[in-house]
Amino acid sequence: MSLIRRFTHVSPLQEYLLERRDEGLIGFVPTMGALHDGHLSLVDRALEECDTVVISIFVNPKQFNNAQDLEKYPRTIEKDIELLGDREVVVFHPEFSDVYPDKAYEVKLDLGNIADVMEGKFRPGHFDGVVTVVSRLFDIVNPDMAYFGEKDYQQLAVIHRMVEVQERLVEVVPCPILREESGLAMSSRNMLLSYEDKTKASGIYRLLNEAIQRIDERSPKLLADELRAEFTSEGFDLEYIDITHPLTLETLHNEWVDGARIFIACYIGGVRLIDNIAVK
Ligand code: AMP
Repeated sequence: MSLIRRFTHVSPLQEYLLERRDEGLIGFVPTMGALHDGHLSLVDRALEECDTVVISIFVNPKQFNNAQDLEKYPRTIEKDIELLGDREVVVFHPEFSDVYPDKAYEVKLDLGNIADVMEGKFRPGHFDGVVTVVSRLFDIVNPDMAYFGEKDYQQLAVIHRMVEVQERLVEVVPCPILREESGLAMSSRNMLLSYEDKTKASGIYRLLNEAIQRIDERSPKLLADELRAEFTSEGFDLEYIDITHPLTLETLHNEWVDGARIFIACYIGGVRLIDNIAVK
């Protein structure tokens, strides 16, 4: 028998969570579904640390700046439920009108540089959409802990900032990137790749991993330039490569700092992929 409780509407979920709150911590894992082991690693961490775990599955149109990308985004709810297996979790799978009774609902915060660079630059409005949905979902679920993957490292920085600005009591827990055996970062979008493109996509991690072995002889700027040349010569349709400070996300030029990170966004077979790696 499945131990999963499913909710579509806000009020029944909140009534249930009101009961559960007395039992202890509520953990929250927001997702857009098409679940894979990366998502499950967040869920399992939440299950270890919390008494009740809520997973939301909602493809948020407000964070897509490209209508085609939104349309193509995989939606596999019954498979998602199957994948959760015998985990005792709460799945919140709302409709648009459950999340946004007011269609125009929007949360706008001054997030500064961290939301303007990289994803913010190439996907204008993306982080406004992320902040809007996560803010609303936090209001609905009112979690003690919320789990986010470093796969979307910039998003994690944005959420940290959002929690600080909104003075929320939720603890944001960063979780490491889960990868396929080939090194490709797990992503719901990987299922849109052909077999050949998936093989090619494993080159992302290979090149990033090779790059972090060479930092002693290169400035961040030189390494970024080299990486751009390498990705381009291997036929990647590159959107950006950036090497930044881990907290401010400001581009590093001449000097390395502890925890510096390399970020990439590229298209393979029309599918947009992102990845990042910490420089040791
Ligand atoms: P998404 O469904 O893509 O919005 O992702 C939901 C959450 O899962 C986000 O916090 C992601 O960063 C996280 N996530 C997605 N892929 C991975 C991965 N490969 N490893 C770890 N976390 C991930």
